[in-house]
Amino acid sequence: MIKGLNWLSTFLEQKVNSVKQGGLCVACLSSKAFNGLCQPCRDDLPVNRWRCRCCALPLAFPSSELLCGDCLKHPPPFETSFVPWRYQYPLDGMIGRYKYNGQRKFGRPLMSDFAGLLEQALQSGSITRPAALVPAPMDARRRRRRGFNQAQDIAETIGGQLNIPVATGLVERVRRVRSQRELNREARLANLRGVFEVVSEVPERVAIVDDVVTTGATVRVLASGLREAGAREIQVWALARTPG
Ligand SMILES: [Zn+2]
Ligand SMILES: [Zn+2]
Repeated sequence: MIKGLNWLSTFLEQKVNSVKQGGLCVACLSSKAFNGLCQPCRDDLPVNRWRCRCCALPLAFPSSELLCGDCLKHPPPFETSFVPWRYQYPLDGMIGRYKYNGQRKFGRPLMSDFAGLLEQALQSGSITRPAALVPAPMDARRRRRRGFNQAQDIAETIGGQLNIPVATGLVERVRRVRSQRELNREARLANLRGVFEVVSEVPERVAIVDDVVTTGATVRVLASGLREAGAREIQVWALARTPG
């Protein structure tokens, strides 16, 4: 029932949004917006240009070919990441309003640009087309409080534009975890052990979808579970990555 409503609201919003030209910029209220953002505000989005080639961690030097220290020391259980922005001003505020205040108009321009960038990357062959998108699951209590799972919302929106199915319910979050914020790397991974359960068949090629990748611990644990359940090629697709 809830799933159906989610789908319906996404569908209706896409319909309303199909008139892309015009409308107000969600960031500065300029009337020259395209897909919800004007060009100057779009130019302000912090592009994640220099990054680790596997986990997309922002790097301080001009490279997108090297691995970060963490990926060198502990190779991740996924092949690559597509994360076009850094979680910095003004994008952090936009994502915050979208997910904590439920103001979807702040998420929509990002999702729409994200889908466009993914489409280009798929066409140029710099990333491969997954058979399904796997939204990072949110625990049920938090989802009830927030009203929606933003990873699911993003996956449905980009999946609709790219014509890739969303594997809803493939993975469940089976227990809550305490806040990761104060924990070091090992403690974070230990804290997340056993938190996800893969409950149905996994396609060979999947992309995990999330809004923001922070420490990367969640996507690592999720990717391990998918790999154990039969996935052979796993990508991570997210809007933004926090600087290390
Ligand atoms: Zn603007
Ligand atoms: Zn890395």
